[in-house]
Amino acid sequence: MSGHSEQEIARLQQIIADLQHQVEYDDVTGLLNSKGLLIKAQPLLQQAPSGEYALLYFDVLRFKAINDMFGMAEGDKLLRHIAYVLQKLQQPGELVCRWGADRFIMLAQRQGAQLQLLVDSILENLNGYGLSLEIVCNMGIYVTTAEQLSLTGMIDRAVLAQSQIKGSYTKKYNYYTEELRQNLLDEQEIVGMMATELEKGHFVAYYQPQYDHSNGLLVGAEALVRWQHPERGLISPAIFIPIFEKNGFITRLDMYIFEETCRFIRKCLDKGLRVVPISTNFSRYDIYQPDFVERLEELRREYNVPVQYLRVEITETAIIGTGEKANEIINKLHQCGYVTEMDDFGSGYSSLNVLRNIDLDVIKLDMLFFAKNEKNDKGGTIISSVVRMAKWLGLPVIAEGVETVEQADFLRSIGCNYIQGYLYSRPVPEADLEQLLREVSVGVIKSTLKTDVDFTTANFWQPSSEITTIFNKYMGPAAFFEYCEGRLEYLRVNQKYLQEIGMNMSEQDLIQGDPLAFFDEENSQIFLDAIYKVLATGREQACETWREIHSSCCGSEKLCLRSNIQLVAKSANIYLFFASVRNVTHDKQLCQLETVEKRFMSAAEQANIYFWEYNILTKEMRPCFRCMRDLGLPPLLTNYPEPAIEGGIFPPDYADMYREWHRQLAEGVPSLEAIIPLTPNRIPFHVRYTTEFDATGQPIKAYGSATLVVDGEDK
Ligand code: C2E
Ligand code: CA
Ligand code: CA
Repeated sequence: MSGHSEQEIARLQQIIADLQHQVEYDDVTGLLNSKGLLIKAQPLLQQAPSGEYALLYFDVLRFKAINDMFGMAEGDKLLRHIAYVLQKLQQPGELVCRWGADRFIMLAQRQGAQLQLLVDSILENLNGYGLSLEIVCNMGIYVTTAEQLSLTGMIDRAVLAQSQIKGSYTKKYNYYTEELRQNLLDEQEIVGMMATELEKGHFVAYYQPQYDHSNGLLVGAEALVRWQHPERGLISPAIFIPIFEKNGFITRLDMYIFEETCRFIRKCLDKGLRVVPISTNFSRYDIYQPDFVERLEELRREYNVPVQYLRVEITETAIIGTGEKANEIINKLHQCGYVTEMDDFGSGYSSLNVLRNIDLDVIKLDMLFFAKNEKNDKGGTIISSVVRMAKWLGLPVIAEGVETVEQADFLRSIGCNYIQGYLYSRPVPEADLEQLLREVSVGVIKSTLKTDVDFTTANFWQPSSEITTIFNKYMGPAAFFEYCEGRLEYLRVNQKYLQEIGMNMSEQDLIQGDPLAFFDEENSQIFLDAIYKVLATGREQACETWREIHSSCCGSEKLCLRSNIQLVAKSANIYLFFASVRNVTHDKQLCQLETVEKRFMSAAEQANIYFWEYNILTKEMRPCFRCMRDLGLPPLLTNYPEPAIEGGIFPPDYADMYREWHRQLAEGVPSLEAIIPLTPNRIPFHVRYTTEFDATGQPIKAYGSATLVVDGEDK
């Protein structure tokens, strides 16, 4: 056996090196991955004296949101940008790693001022990224000490330091200290004391006022829980809420805060103060409790608080992906008269579509998420798009986390007047809010649907604008169209609309045509009637219309669309409408007997088949056109199959068997078939039944057919 050639060995070595690289490095950024870091860090750390190395750990605040807003490709680009920044600052003897997802680690061989300089440069360079949103990172830093820690031990401490500032836009880095570890209440300690702390009244409600920035009136407040710990002072909800959500205590706490709110409002009313509505936060774990609404009502009645003073705040994430369940609860709340608010809109999972499908009354927009970058104002444009969309949906918007006059003025300029934030007030104790109610004028939050928006100047019509992105990415199938004196014109349709239609058409194809040309006269009238109804009532209207669509590649097809139409704007005699649509062609075809019958008729004509439909519940039979013609049957036979037997279509010797079939159909047999000699002439037919069941599995209908048995076929 001959040995390997040098060439082969070199190739093998290359392959091994490549494999090793794949194992140790991250595909997206080219940095070390977690495995790579573990392998490479150990030898470096072992030889280094304490304090020589520092471990920097950070992630990108709301990276998921960036991914959602701008797409995965943008997300990857951002990750590569971060990698680039780290590599640029990296010196020999230092390691940079993508620890996973949006988490990065740098093992830096620097101390003191040098280390601080590195931290500042990383944060500064990351911030200079061109994306529309400010890229915020919270970094935790662990400096090695005499204590010999493993790499993972070091990471844990950096993560701990980071967790103290996580979510903050102002404090971007935090050094690990031993006190930090000691000060930190650990989870078990919290769980151990929570119930007694609640009983002792150490959880208190603070209230953050909400103002109308256009006139300075107080319009509402939000109750926010505070834990006044006897030794540790005020503890932020950010620390204990996640723990209480895990162990279920949150529901007790939230109900307690709600009760405190009721008590406070009662007290103010008794003192003759003008009260504003107060919102309470409810966690997703609360609202799906079967007796959630009943418990609210019980407390509300106990304190005899009129329902208009109590609002229910639910986070966006509690609503998404729960299907109809969230709506059920919201409906129940509405029936009792509660105004419901969507908290943290824009926190990352937001989809404007959710707004359309969920019947919430107020949106709370988190400004912190849209923190504006001075270099460009895409964040601002997104806010105005969202505010405009919300307006079109008739939803008032409360902007939260407003810290500066500039922000407030900007919000006012785009028509969002309701503001909650440090600019006006931090959350305050009960006594302070009471004082405020004594002093200030009180206003109300109004729905802001306007019908006089000057939509000609809106950048909505520009295909590259953010609002277009939102329209295309975050909304279901939808179209904007204009109505002017009996004439319709599509202005924009989104990609999902085109997909829903299922024809390979472009927006241009659709816009160029006359929308009414898709309809026949009857359907055109249905559609126009819906529009007139919207104009007359100002309310959303739904209609179902059939239309025939032609496309160059798919030919023509008839489809039925269900449209929910609402008025967006009006200028002189031109009206702008928004329609969300759903293709219901398939449903229609299934349930429209007429269509089925028509199809059967034409099929039967061609194939020597007789069809009928038997209603199992009513024992009614509807024959096809051919049965009526050839056998002289009326369009509807009752108490079937008796009339067919009496009339001699089914011969007497088959009568009992045929009756037995109908009993079996009622019992849910899925299909039946036999050769039966039919008519007085006893011509052999292949007779079949296929049963249709409803959603609960009950048989409802059976479709019968009789095919002439021709020699050689159907033995
Ligand atoms: P959230 O519901 O979004 O409440 C708004 C948070 O933003 C509050 O933080 C408030 O103090 C803070 N904030 C208000 N204006 C500004 C501002 O101008 N700048 C900055 N940087 N922050 C501002 P807080 O009170 O620490 O509450 C944090 C979160 O904890 C709340 O966020 C909410 O999700 C949760 N939470 C608070 N109280 C309760 C409660 O009673 N029940 C439940 N389930 N969750 C609660
Ligand atoms: Ca809230
Ligand atoms: Ca919020």
